[in-house]
Amino acid sequence: MLRWIDVLTYARYSNPEPPRRVNLTDQEWAAQLTPAQFRVLRQQHTEPPYRNAYCRSYEPGVYVCAGCNSPLFDSTTKYHAISGWPSFTQPLTRSAISYFFDDSHHMQRVEVRCNVCGGHLGHVFPDGPAPGGLRYCINSESIRQLPPPTDAR
Ligand SMILES: [Zn+2]
Repeated sequence: MLRWIDVLTYARYSNPEPPRRVNLTDQEWAAQLTPAQFRVLRQQHTEPPYRNAYCRSYEPGVYVCAGCNSPLFDSTTKYHAISGWPSFTQPLTRSAISYFFDDSHHMQRVEVRCNVCGGHLGHVFPDGPAPGGLRYCINSESIRQLPPPTDAR
């Protein structure tokens, strides 16, 4: 389980090695993302609180990066944080997310990005629920929920 000290260590020293890397130009990203996805993932914008797709959605399933389809979060770690954005307590795997100090907007925050394509996802805060104490505050535009796997037999 990741804790705040792990987040700070990743941001300060080095992030986990990604399972693969996706490197596209801004033009290539713009061609495959919606304008709203591009603003969040590639330009670090923040979508409006509450008026976003997954704020109040608790359907079971895995959330993948809207840019590169890498698995990022599972619905079992999603919780109601009253922030206006989808919130998670843990990433799906340690190597799914990378961490960067972000001093913009006169705040000291830790930005979280997709570790595979570098897409901006949101921020992580140390005010989440026990036992991990983390709150991943994520833009809905940066993620896409896959339906739960169906039994093919
Ligand atoms: Zn990605």
